[in-house]
Amino acid sequence: MKYSTLKHLFILFFLFTFAKGYSQDSAYVRKTINQLTSKKFWGRGYTKDGMGKASDFLAAEYEKIGLLPIGKNYKQEFTYPVNTFPGKMFVEVNGKKLLPGKDFIVNNESPSLNKRIKLRKIDSVLYDGGPNLQVVLKDKLTWSVASEVSPTTRIEISRKFFKEKPDSIKVDIEHKFVSNFKAANVIGYVKGTKHPDSILMITAHYDHLGGMGAETFFPGANDNAAGVATLLSLAKYYAENPQPYSIGFICFAGEEAGLLGSRYFTENPLIFLGKIKFLINLDLVGTGESGMTVVNASIYPKAFSILNQVNQESGLISKINSRGKAANSDHYFFTEKGVPAFFFYTQGGIAAYHDVFDKPETLPLTEYNDLFRLIVNFNKIILNN
Ligand SMILES: [Zn+2]
Repeated sequence: MKYSTLKHLFILFFLFTFAKGYSQDSAYVRKTINQLTSKKFWGRGYTKDGMGKASDFLAAEYEKIGLLPIGKNYKQEFTYPVNTFPGKMFVEVNGKKLLPGKDFIVNNESPSLNKRIKLRKIDSVLYDGGPNLQVVLKDKLTWSVASEVSPTTRIEISRKFFKEKPDSIKVDIEHKFVSNFKAANVIGYVKGTKHPDSILMITAHYDHLGGMGAETFFPGANDNAAGVATLLSLAKYYAENPQPYSIGFICFAGEEAGLLGSRYFTENPLIFLGKIKFLINLDLVGTGESGMTVVNASIYPKAFSILNQVNQESGLISKINSRGKAANSDHYFFTEKGVPAFFFYTQGGIAAYHDVFDKPETLPLTEYNDLFRLIVNFNKIILNN
């Protein structure tokens, strides 16, 4: 009895010690994704102070990790106009109430509308509801962020979840245009031991689409809680293992509104951009069943070949696809200013994108461990080349 208890304790001790390496990072990443996608942060957007709360959470996390601040309390503030939906979000079609996010979305440029009308069919997907209302049938609902308001309220209905032909509609929707929404990039770094003036920058946007009405928010697990959580786990690693050069971290705001945070940073840099020797941007990295893609791979062929070499040597990601220049995430304005940058995103597994189904519980995180090791090993080589 005594011996077997000891043996068990010994095995437990061993398992615990072994488990500490990479799996501890996965647990931290899972936990962080669950936090960032929770109701508290309301889709890290424009209502219920979701984005503001997320930026406070990140600054506190940076401090806990031990990053040095750049900016005031790690923050660089900026403003931009945005159309928001803080209140009523009621749509009834053929006498049946539709569920926001799942059955329908309101086009992000829409103004407030309170109306009940019989619809007029234009074609197989478009219905007219008078001068200020349009109804469109869609196979996939994809929401986004608008910085202006159109004269027409546009309701997009999912054909997958609402299979009837719309005949009559009742709409009661409230919008609020905010001309100077306050957002903040969150910036910190680990000082280099030999060449603190050379910086390797890791970036990920933490904003998402926010909420649509008072009851519905878009969690944005893959887009981009996964990228932010990966960035934070790398920050933890580098805080414990400082490198000869500095490692910087930026969580950008306003990406979904048009790369606004990264554009603002490159136009108002808090560090000289020439000091950034390489930048890795992470956006949509929570999958990986079909490998990953590197934007700017063909712009920086030498760095891309190092990346492939590192990947093959350690047997990490199943497939790394190469892409050219693309203005599709926060690396873009850095590249335009001459900062060498890669943007990594993973593929396969789930199809949720800019919808209410981008949830933490269905996010596979297939390649998290491999991606973490790929970035650490790549970074070791890239600054010496
Ligand atoms: Zn994104």
